[in-house]
Amino acid sequence: MPTRNEVLRELGLAPLWRLRQRTRTEVPRGGEDMREPGDANRDQRLAHIAALALDTLVDDIAQCRACGLCATRKRTVPGIGAADAAWMFVGEAPGADEDAQGEPFVGAAGRLLDNMLAALGLARDHDVFIANVLKCRPPGNRTPAPLEVEACRPYLDRQIELVGPGLIVALGKSAACTLLGVDTSVASLRNRVHRYRGRPLIVTYHPAYLLRTPADKAKAWEDLLFARRTLRESPAQHA
Ligand code: URA
Repeated sequence: MPTRNEVLRELGLAPLWRLRQRTRTEVPRGGEDMREPGDANRDQRLAHIAALALDTLVDDIAQCRACGLCATRKRTVPGIGAADAAWMFVGEAPGADEDAQGEPFVGAAGRLLDNMLAALGLARDHDVFIANVLKCRPPGNRTPAPLEVEACRPYLDRQIELVGPGLIVALGKSAACTLLGVDTSVASLRNRVHRYRGRPLIVTYHPAYLLRTPADKAKAWEDLLFARRTLRESPAQHA
């Protein structure tokens, strides 16, 4: 019989964090700072991540214990690509192949993504950076939990800041809705230039969806051509 903690861990909900009771010595003088101790820890972690470079970020992710996925992952999957890529592709989270190899989009969906990149004259190490919202695999490829997204997003945000892409392509509903803070379909988000952290963001179908629905590959191709036009029209965006 699994323990409660084991079940929570399998669901990605452990370890459980409890706010400590504020002790008398922690109460700020004058009451000017009413934040909980947990806020200070979070601020400290955010400041730490905001100071990482691309290589130290990889090491940091490998050590990360900020959510329960650290207990079930085989490998962390930080992302891969050119340090000054103009294009950044963002998926949802690693799957089984990525978890085994430590690299994003290496399974069947990844091969389709590589083919789509090649059709644009791009490759995963040439003017492209590929990352996921989550750097660890959710067990059974379940949808990322909000707390996991909250814990992991600072890594993606730092990658975007460091790479400075001229354009972000969100692959699939999960990545798109997470980055844009909405809950709607890919169909309703396509064909528009959104923004994420001041950069243009375009939404297209996830390659895994395209493998299941090949009739929509033509739409994904239109999206990539739209993305290329958008990038060409805003070259100054590429820091
Ligand atoms: N699906 C994703 O969203 N990301 C990967 O890395 C692989 C599959």
